[in-house]
Amino acid sequence: MKRLFLLALVLTLFTRIGIAQINSPADDPLRVIVFFAHPDDGEKMGGTAAMMAREGIQVKFVCMTNGDAGHQEMGGGALGVRRRAEAMVAKEKLGIAEYVVWDNHDAELLPELHIRKDVIRAIREWNADVVIGHRPNDYHPDHRNAGQLVIDASYLVIVPNVAADTPPVRNNPVFLYLQDRFSKPNPFSYDIVIGTDEGFEAKLAATNAYESQMYEWLPWTSQSLDQVPESPEERFEWLRKRHESRKMSEEARAGLVKWYGEERAANFKYSEAFEIAEYGKRPNEEEIRMIFPMLKKK
Ligand SMILES: [Zn+2]
Repeated sequence: MKRLFLLALVLTLFTRIGIAQINSPADDPLRVIVFFAHPDDGEKMGGTAAMMAREGIQVKFVCMTNGDAGHQEMGGGALGVRRRAEAMVAKEKLGIAEYVVWDNHDAELLPELHIRKDVIRAIREWNADVVIGHRPNDYHPDHRNAGQLVIDASYLVIVPNVAADTPPVRNNPVFLYLQDRFSKPNPFSYDIVIGTDEGFEAKLAATNAYESQMYEWLPWTSQSLDQVPESPEERFEWLRKRHESRKMSEEARAGLVKWYGEERAANFKYSEAFEIAEYGKRPNEEEIRMIFPMLKKK
């Protein structure tokens, strides 16, 4: 009996060591921080974020600009205030732990040293195990620069003399990229694909919170403002239909099969994908299943 107990203890310890969380203690919730350029960009992983939050993972969203430019009728401080309020509604819908909006101007984000230091401090203060951001090739300069800023911080977060007012994290976190559709100089790699059906309603509700973008600015840019319904209920249904009609790509479907197996993968209608960055810690399969606990469920 005693021997069995010892064996169990050793096995438990061994398992712990095997799947040690990167920075946070093994018994604490995993800590994830997500950086993106504009208030609606985090919705790319809205389903995953909502599902992570339900698993107890501490998810923090950091919007790196205040969104004060992208609108056809309003701008500046008034728009910034409105976008921030929308982001706070989205936070509630996703159920994530924190959501901050930085006061950098929209359409003016540059890979400047002071913002790099802000990124380094934010990662350290969150004691992040995982950092997620844009890839540095993307149509929007803010997305590109946001991606660059996060990647530029990826090694420096462990260097004590950089942003020395904030103690470094002990280990390099895992760095992941949000999904995009750009192929030059290299296409997005579907390294991790999450079936997000269980997070779909939360994602939709959070997306619906960005009224000034979903029902005003984006339809204006695509010259479809006349198709936007009047009432909030009709708008929500309109948004739902557009999301429901999106076809899953072959790459995403193949990724689901890899992570869930053929049978489970076939049941998913929705997915969100992540590419593992070459910087920071390279996670093994066991660590990926720890970061995304929904991959473990049978
Ligand atoms: Zn954006």
